[in-house]
Amino acid sequence: MAMYDKRYPFTNVVDMMLSNPMGRPESHPLSIDAVTGETITLNNLRHMVGALHAGLRRFGLKQGDTVCFYAPNNINMAPIYLGTMAAGMTISPANTSYVSTELQRQLQVSEAKILIAHPGNLDIALEAAAAVGIPPSHVFSVIRDPQQRVQHYRDVFIDYTQPELPPVKMTHDESVNTVAYLCFSSGTTGRSKGVMTSHYNVVSMVMEMHDFVGIFADPSVQKISLAVIPLYHFSGISTFFNMGIPGGSTSIFLEKYSIPAMCEAIQTFKVNDLPAAPPILIHLVNRPEVDKYDLSSLQRIGTGSAPIPPSVVTRCAEKYKAFVGQGYGMTETSPVISFQTLETAKPDSIGRIIPCMLHKIIDSEGREVGLNEPGELCVRGPNVMLGYKGDPEATANAIDKDNWLHTGDIVTKDEDGNLYIVDRIKELIKYKGFQVAPVELESVLLKCPYVADAGVIGIDDESQGTEIPLAFVTLPDNLKNQGNALAPKIKAWVDERVANHKRLRGGVRVITEIPKSAAGKILRKDMKAIYKQQQNEI
Ligand code: AMP
Repeated sequence: MAMYDKRYPFTNVVDMMLSNPMGRPESHPLSIDAVTGETITLNNLRHMVGALHAGLRRFGLKQGDTVCFYAPNNINMAPIYLGTMAAGMTISPANTSYVSTELQRQLQVSEAKILIAHPGNLDIALEAAAAVGIPPSHVFSVIRDPQQRVQHYRDVFIDYTQPELPPVKMTHDESVNTVAYLCFSSGTTGRSKGVMTSHYNVVSMVMEMHDFVGIFADPSVQKISLAVIPLYHFSGISTFFNMGIPGGSTSIFLEKYSIPAMCEAIQTFKVNDLPAAPPILIHLVNRPEVDKYDLSSLQRIGTGSAPIPPSVVTRCAEKYKAFVGQGYGMTETSPVISFQTLETAKPDSIGRIIPCMLHKIIDSEGREVGLNEPGELCVRGPNVMLGYKGDPEATANAIDKDNWLHTGDIVTKDEDGNLYIVDRIKELIKYKGFQVAPVELESVLLKCPYVADAGVIGIDDESQGTEIPLAFVTLPDNLKNQGNALAPKIKAWVDERVANHKRLRGGVRVITEIPKSAAGKILRKDMKAIYKQQQNEI
């Protein structure tokens, strides 16, 4: 798999993250809780990582085992993620809005040995763990659980009376093949899968981003970043941990996004860097309550994970006199593929390809298209995942025999190398930057007693600046006379059984037949056409 054999000075991501290239003092605050002010310094982090590594070993975990993390943004994340990876184990963060069945699947696919959750979602965590055979003694809480249902992770894994352990040493080949992170993504098709991101994937991404935009170039720059995007998604992990920790940023952790909480934190901590996603930028430009706060400290606002209207980028930059930079990538590419720099940014572009990646843009026959012509973006490079865990077929669908990862995104490229997203040919729906896999919703719909067959598509909700899932269904024979009257019941039935971001916000529509190919594949393009036609008739 390692068709790219550039050697970087680090083989273990934790060595890289703690190498302190910016020369910050050991007392430098790396993570601060926005509400309590609790702080983790560089020195605290070093010791917590060494102690956690040793604690995981004492508990009986071995190199290659997986720790699942199911909790909202919290300052304990850095020691837990880094301590796990320092031990040569894999950290698998789960979406915090998962319901029990969704978490069970991640626990099973990842083969997690222990689960660290939050008091707020501990009941779901315990239920999911029990369902897959993880005993309650292997479920821990990231902060002390007031009801003492499980032990606090620090009480079990962090014991400073015991010797700490340094990050495991890896050869180049081990670094290429050892899974550091296992985040979940549906990729271009099918259900959500475990993306195996190696130590080498991460190190190469960070080193190349440094070459591209100089992330460690100027120690006099003190980034104060607000960690409001979730750190179970790779864009958050990359920004705040993989690049943020070696970059010496101070990250202010906010457990839950709300406009007042975000603005309050920016004002109090004089945040100058806000890595965000389109819905947050839309709030920053449109919502009157933001104007009650002093947000003048903002110098850089980042956006990515989903399409953003160029007018929002321009208005945000003007209103806050800040650089609004866009990045584009996938969980499967650790995650950056293209990025904007101060000098080259254009409001409608997703930036230029980062230096370590080869790319080509192809038509449906696989032929490369010319400049400014649309085609599917394919990429190849050291930051492309090892594959989907336990799913060689899905891996082979995503990465072809010549090692090209097919992104499922249709782009154009201009004369200067700027890329523009024009369409998405993969099934994926993005609700406010969160992944929704249509097949997962279809499999839930097919279990609903009021549904005979189902197909799901994404439609645009312009008022919120996001896509939302909509289901077409057919009814069983005995309910056919009820027609669309059953739609709200079906929607409520599904919404109770899926994570918040997967709810059928686009509604449910009853039709006579789900369009399918001769081979039985759902024809989503045809469903989109039906939707358009129905909208025109309204
Ligand atoms: P994820 O793995 O959740 O990051 O999802 C990756 C997908 O999100 C990409 O393949 C794109 O379809 C979409 N995406 C990511 N960044 C952008 C962006 N800046 N603009 C438009 N779509 C994006």
